[in-house]
Amino acid sequence: MSNIAFIGLGNMGTPMALNLIKAGRQLAVHDLLPANMDKLAAAGARAAATARDAVAGADIVITMLPASQHVEGLYLGGDLLAHIDPRALVIECSTIAPESARKVAAAAQARGISMLDAPVSGGTAGAAAGTLTFIVGGEDQALARARPVLEQMGKNIFHAGPAGAGQVAKICNNMLLGILMAGTAEALSLGVANGLDPKVLSDIIAKSSGRNWATELYNPWPGVMEHAPASKGYAGGFGSDLMLKDLGLAGEAAQATRASIPLGALARNLYALHGAAGHGKLDFSSILKLYQQD
Ligand code: NAD
Repeated sequence: MSNIAFIGLGNMGTPMALNLIKAGRQLAVHDLLPANMDKLAAAGARAAATARDAVAGADIVITMLPASQHVEGLYLGGDLLAHIDPRALVIECSTIAPESARKVAAAAQARGISMLDAPVSGGTAGAAAGTLTFIVGGEDQALARARPVLEQMGKNIFHAGPAGAGQVAKICNNMLLGILMAGTAEALSLGVANGLDPKVLSDIIAKSSGRNWATELYNPWPGVMEHAPASKGYAGGFGSDLMLKDLGLAGEAAQATRASIPLGALARNLYALHGAAGHGKLDFSSILKLYQQD
């Protein structure tokens, strides 16, 4: 039975780690905010005061942090890699720049440690249900070792290519998600401004050609879907600032290759305006607020 260190217990990390405990894994957990470890400790995990303490004796290290700077800070800012057993496997699940993922994987490799970038899709509901999609970059052998653990947190596992490829695929997906959420908010707002009931219009779109993930599972209009963040004051879920970060990553990837992403750039600007209006901590479906008329 492997020992797992799980670092980063926010909206995603907490339910993912809880699923590993449910599956019978031994976990040591760590988060910069001690209160974020309470739920896991109550479920049987060992709460570690430092990342170094968490990785001691771990066969598998999983991280789920906000952005590139947190991941680089953790793995490259100090001597954490020196405290990870060279036989251990590191599975980095945050959404970060492909370049950061490659840099951290190379530093791990230099110490003989295998590392995968394995960003996820499926949101907090997918994390809680254990139905996440993992989009993996790295070597075949490392993925074969990771698979049994990933299967305890997710349903679909894709091998996108070598180190960093998981992040590239994830960034493409999230750019599309940012565009489609803004588009869905725009369409619903237009319908409501013209006298339609948002639930009736959502039901129509969900069975018509404008149908998408937001209309099926994550409607941005409050009250249309009981379990969506929109119906809970846009609390929890996927923060607007995190979506802004991912659209920024798409911009960097486009810049590096001279690719055109006019809609992605527009969506990034909408999320930047939304954040500047003070909504950065709300779930990203709150982009609807940009369209609402008083
Ligand atoms: P979050 O902000 O809720 O959680 C991040 C956690 O990391 C926080 O608890 C924070 O205290 C902790 N942390 C930060 N730096 C740390 C460090 N050095 N050591 C230990 N803990 C540290 O974010 P989230 O919503 O859980 O998202 C995590 C990642 O997953 C992000 O990259 C995000 O883009 C991605 N993601 C999120 C969703 C979603 O629906 N929320 C979906 C798919 C992917």
